[in-house]
Amino acid sequence: MNDDQFQIETRSIHAGQEPDEETGALMTPIFANSTYEQDAPGDHRGYEYSRTGNPTRTDLEENLASLEGADYGRCFASGMGSINTVCNLLESGDHVVTGNDVYGGTHRIFTQVYDQYEIEFTFVDMTDLEAIEAAFQDNTELLWLETPTNPLMSVVDIEGAAAIADEHDAISVIDNTFATPYLQRPLELGADVVSHSLTKYLGGHSDVVGGALLTNDPELDERFGFYQNAVGATPGPFDCFLVLRGTKTLPVRMDRHCDNARAIAEWLDGHSDVDHVYYPGLEDHPGHDIAARQMDDFGGMLSFELDGTLEQASTVVEETEVFTLAESLGGVESLIEQPAPMTHAAIPREERLEAGLTDSLIRVSVGIEHVDDLVSDLDQAIQTALE
Ligand SMILES: *Cc1c(COP(=O)(O)O)cnc(C)c1O
Repeated sequence: MNDDQFQIETRSIHAGQEPDEETGALMTPIFANSTYEQDAPGDHRGYEYSRTGNPTRTDLEENLASLEGADYGRCFASGMGSINTVCNLLESGDHVVTGNDVYGGTHRIFTQVYDQYEIEFTFVDMTDLEAIEAAFQDNTELLWLETPTNPLMSVVDIEGAAAIADEHDAISVIDNTFATPYLQRPLELGADVVSHSLTKYLGGHSDVVGGALLTNDPELDERFGFYQNAVGATPGPFDCFLVLRGTKTLPVRMDRHCDNARAIAEWLDGHSDVDHVYYPGLEDHPGHDIAARQMDDFGGMLSFELDGTLEQASTVVEETEVFTLAESLGGVESLIEQPAPMTHAAIPREERLEAGLTDSLIRVSVGIEHVDDLVSDLDQAIQTALE
């Protein structure tokens, strides 16, 4: 499929997927094979062993590459598998600049796994380009950032940050999990690599765990392919099939996620029991202008501070009926969680408060249910909590 010719709504359905030549079967089959026949020793038809390559995985890799406008794509068994693969590029003595509010698992693999190999990490406020620039050292090899961030939805200027990395000959990697390629394409803004947790919006149905790395750099792609095979954190064909099924509806799902999130953010913003709403689509959000520039819409994630205690915020997340109390995000169903005792519990309270993660902060992954049901559900839960 010629990528330049078709819009993302068309590519999400067709890129990487042709009807099966032999049977005409429309959907990419689940190639449940570990090994493949060879015609003569070393003479195979593109596949020899499924850790190295699998046809279902190939179709997903091509589909995802097309969505991000990338020449190359590689899939992994989880988002952490992708992040680990990027870390595999590093050597002892290297330095990494990253955000002070990156995903908890990213923070953990940096500080508890790669730290011991004498790789140094500096965590900075990524919304401040001068702070990024100041953090660079002679041995900085990697810039890792997320935008919008979790759970305060801070927005990082991808173009500005990637340019700093470029000047210092460092690789820039953007974790694009929250925005998805439907809303934001970092490679077009100068980033070297995009990383995804497919578990979230790309899979979209809370039924699969996966990861991906997309790039236009053939050398980086070759190294990612080497680590797929050498380390082995590759996804199985059933998982690849589920993500392929998910990406077909990414554009329509994202439109509804964005519409619902915007409506809920505006409703919360006018609520007398809500202190603050964090949603880049609100004009008073500090990252609104950058988000408007680098994103096509503002996404389905938001957070808000209840005018109440940690316990009252816990009651809100327990009392919702349509929103499910759960970690994770990006599925068709609405989820609600409280970062302080849940996703961000590992951060000491003082540090957490300093980062703006208050006790009564509530994070919402807005699903694609009817928005009126979502608003009235939040309304009754907030009323019950503050009674
Ligand atoms: C979930 C998530 C990850 C990790 O992905 P898994 O698929 O859970 O391994 C990485 N980055 C972000 C932003 C995430 O939300």
